[in-house]
Amino acid sequence: MTDQTICHRCGALLHRGRAELYIIQIRARADPAITDLPDLSPEQIAGEIERLIDEAATQSERELREQVHAELEIILCNACYHTWLENPTG
Ligand SMILES: [Zn+2]
Repeated sequence: MTDQTICHRCGALLHRGRAELYIIQIRARADPAITDLPDLSPEQIAGEIERLIDEAATQSERELREQVHAELEIILCNACYHTWLENPTG
């Protein structure tokens, strides 16, 4: 880890250990409480499973993993941190 980094929002040069930055850690995951599955016949379910297997075969392991779970880290300068805090989903 170097002593310098940049704000991921405004590009300002920042120095670690000088209270110049915040590290935002974001964890996203797919809705774990999906219970409202459509009322399908056994044939439709088999067809859907086949379709999902075909679809999965065309995607990389990373793409499949990111559909379920993703984590990322954002470094922000003090000014950008306070702006982000006021509207984190903006
Ligand atoms: Zn910034």
